[in-house]
Formats: sequence, C-alpha cells, structure tokens
Amino acid sequence: MALAQITLHDKAFRPYLPANELAAAVTALAVRLNHDYVDRRPLFVVVLTGAFMFASDLLKQIAVPCEIVFIRVASYQGTGSTGVVQEILGLREEIAGRHLVVVEDIVDTGTTLHHLLPTLLAKGPASVEVATLFLKPECLRHDLTLKYVAREISNDFVVGYGLDYDGLGRNLPDVYVAV
Ligand code: 5GP
Repeated sequence: MALAQITLHDKAFRPYLPANELAAAVTALAVRLNHDYVDRRPLFVVVLTGAFMFASDLLKQIAVPCEIVFIRVASYQGTGSTGVVQEILGLREEIAGRHLVVVEDIVDTGTTLHHLLPTLLAKGPASVEVATLFLKPECLRHDLTLKYVAREISNDFVVGYGLDYDGLGRNLPDVYVAV
C-alpha cells in the first residue's frame, strides 16, 4: 500500500524512505561491520534517543561477539576558554583499549560528534568509528571521518524510524520528509 502524507503537530510530511529501503541499507552496514570487527569484540555506543530503532535493527544482524551500551549527550556552554562542554551520561563501562562504534541517528552539522568523539578518545579506546543511519553531506561543518553511513540524504528535515519532530514520529517504521 502506498504511504500517505502525514501531519505531526502543525507540520506536513511526505513519504521519503520506506521501511524496506531502510532495512536494505541497515543490512549492508551490518555486513561491513561483521567483516571489519572479527576478533575485535566491538563496544557499540548507541546515542539515545533517535538511534534506538536503527540500533535495534542493526545490532540484531551483528554476528561477531560484541557489547552494547546506551548513552545520552548533554552539551552546555562552558565558561571562558572551555567553550562547549559535553557530558556523556550513562557510560559506566571501561572503554580504554576497546574498539568503539558510535551508533548515531543522523549527522547534520556534525557538531554533536565533533564534541563527542574527542571526549571518548580522551578515555583511551583502541579505536573509534561512527555508524550513522543518515548523513546530510551538504550540512556538514566539521572534519569528521564517518566510516559507516547507511544512507546519505538531502538537506531536509526528516522524521520516523526513531527520529522525531518535537516528540512525535519516532514510532513510524518509514521515514518522512517535511514538505
Ligand atoms: P548535528 O550535531 O550533526 O548538527 O545534529 C545531530 C542531531 O540533530 C541529530 O542527532 C538529531 O537529533 C538532530 N537532527 C538533525 N537533522 C535532523 C532531522 O532531519 N530530523 C530530526 N528529527 N532530527 C535531526
């Protein structure tokens, strides 16, 4: 059945990526991760909340031994020279010497990762890579190495498959774009 336009709060969204296309992109990423992380016992660091559905589908297809943690990031303006300070909530695991894969919903300007990655690297992991569901290449403002991108999308606001518009839309199995 063809997907129809939806309204969340005051905003209209049209169908953009159906669940079967998302599933194919996620599977392709899982195949690469299974290949690259043999014998490395990766620690998947899932950034809540938007990545929850992507992470669930991706991690079900990871066949190598791995561990999974869920974090939240809280950014606030520090004083004087400290600039933006980022706090990682929920990371109780020892990550020194571990191979980390940060699981993100969407990389837009890249500011979130620009702050998160150095914070993780300061704890001495063996490696850190990023697996993101979406990347908006036109929006990227930081020099980031994004090794695992399920899908590049245009510079538009999307919802569904974990992503919300002011709290709504996370539950939708398909992805919609603002009209
Ligand atoms: P960045 O720090 O890369 O600019 O932004 C990343 C965060 O912005 C994402 O984790 C997500 O929460 C939010 N974001 C960016 N673009 C979109 C979008 O198109 N839709 C939704 N729902 N959130 C977005």
